[in-house]
Order: sequence, then structure tokens, then C-alpha cells
Amino acid sequence: MKTLIVLLLLTPALSIAKIYNGTLVDAHSQVGPLISNEQVSKQIINNDVDLTLLSIRGKWDSATQRYLSIQKLTNQKTKYLIPTKLGGFTRKERDNSKVIRTIKYLRDQALNSNINYVGFGEIIVQHAPHNHSKLKYEGINLDFKSERINKAIDIVLSDKKPVILHVELNDYEEDSKKILSQLIDLAKKNPSEDFLLMHMAQIEFSEAEYLLNDTNNIHFITSHADNEKKRQMKRNPGKAQMGWINLFDKNDNLQKRWLDLMNKNPKRFVLALDNVWDGHWLKGYSTRIYIWRKALSSLDKQAALLIACGNANDYFKLEIKCLEER
Ligand SMILES: [Zn+2]
Repeated sequence: MKTLIVLLLLTPALSIAKIYNGTLVDAHSQVGPLISNEQVSKQIINNDVDLTLLSIRGKWDSATQRYLSIQKLTNQKTKYLIPTKLGGFTRKERDNSKVIRTIKYLRDQALNSNINYVGFGEIIVQHAPHNHSKLKYEGINLDFKSERINKAIDIVLSDKKPVILHVELNDYEEDSKKILSQLIDLAKKNPSEDFLLMHMAQIEFSEAEYLLNDTNNIHFITSHADNEKKRQMKRNPGKAQMGWINLFDKNDNLQKRWLDLMNKNPKRFVLALDNVWDGHWLKGYSTRIYIWRKALSSLDKQAALLIACGNANDYFKLEIKCLEER
């Protein structure tokens, strides 16, 4: 709240904007080796997010301990998503049984440490190559027939947790039809489970409409679908994924067609910032939250409360109170 007031004072032009002032959950963010537990905890406490579902990047052998430390430092403002991509999950030459064993190991550790985890972090199905100072990476392009992906999904489903998937329908445009139809099959085969697509899956609007109409258990996570991502792609052309979609217009308002789609399908969108790099946590975090709080206020009241809190509360069984006004 403090940050929000400061922001309002600093930006008189925005001060007339309406703001969603209810409970806000960031349903997927990540902490990696470039930021300390203390730094990230300070950001979680000082920014205007009530609860952050957090996964850990980097070394698998210290992940559980890192989460425990952050949970304590933030005074329980986080809940744990067990990492799925450590131990080389996103490296295609890595042995399937080894990467699956890492996920199980991390789950055992969480259980042994009495962490009441609420789910698993994103499962990377497709990921474009990176040629960036922070990440050199050859990319991976699997699908829902791949053994590695099926085994990872099985672990999540056997725990009765929602399955968070990272697919890149734009960056792997040539496979987008295949991925969409496999996704729909998967959702229909598991009608009582929820499937959440990170970063809006880089989906085209018409495909999103189609997916929402044809299924009832595939939902969209709103991360990295904004002007900030667009500016970043312009600054670093070709260095990482170029397929991110943008839900906003140039004034940081939700585009009308997406706004209407959200109002029409309020159960199908889940808010997340997905901070990954140190820069996400340390620069512009409060601004992005402000932009989302403003965007949420442009939605129907009930839709805003569901997207900001109610849906995450439902799908991850968070057992928190979602308040229209805090
Ligand atoms: Zn992702």
C-alpha cells in the first residue's frame, strides 16, 4: 500500500485512475541465483501483493532451504510451488529419468520440511533459445506426447494440484496447431483437473476464444503479456523469445477485446507477475502491480476479484480470504 501511495503522489496524471484495491495474489513468481533471499523478501513485503506463489530456480540441492528462508523472512507472504525445471529439465540431452527424479526429490524434501506446498512451478514444454548475457540456452521444443512432459504432469496430477504449463505458441508457431489440439485432448481426458497456461501461452485472440469455448478446465495465467515485455523485445531483438503477446493498449489499459473476453470468462484467467530475473524483482515491480491494479478496476467487479484472487484461491486451494477492499 505504501508503494502505491508514493506512486500516486509521484504521478499526478495517473492519480485520477481507478484502482482495484482488493486482495491480490501473484500466482507464479520465481527466485534465482542473481538475487538474495533478503533482497527478494524485502520486495515481497514492500510491494502491494498480498500473497506470492513462489518457485525456486538455480541449484536444486538448496532450493527447499531457500524457500523456507524466504517464507520466514516474508512472514508467510509466500506459498511454495515445487520447482519442476531444476536438474536440467529444460536441457533436451538430459536423461528423462534423472530430471523426473529431481522433481520427486524436491517434493520429498518439501514434505520432510513440513512445507504445505500448494502446487508445482511451470512445466516447460517449449522454450525458445536464449542468447542473452543472463542466459545462454539452446531451447527446447517438446509436446504432450513426450515422455518427460507426461511423467512431470503425472506427478502433479497424482498430487491433485493444478498443472502449470509453459508453451510458446508464437515462438513455435509451426507447432501451434498440434500443441493446441494435444492440450485440448489432455484437458478432456482429465476433466476434473485444472490446467494453467503461463504467459497466456503466447496465444492469438481467436485461439484463446476457441480454447475457452471448447474446454472448461484450461485457464490463462496473465504473466508477461504487457507493454514492458514489448519494450524488452524491442530493446533486445532476437536475443530471447519474440512471441510474447500484449493484452494492453499503449496507455496500459486492457484492450477491449481481451477485457470483454475476461468479463465473459472470469473463471478462466489467473493473475501472475512471474518475476524471474533480479531485474523483475528490483526494477519496475511496483509499477507493474499498479498497472495491473488499474487494469483490474476496468473489469467487472466480480471478474476482477476472481482474476486477482478468487481463481488462484480455488485452483491452488489457498484457503485465503479474497476481499474486495482490504
Ligand atoms: Zn515461463
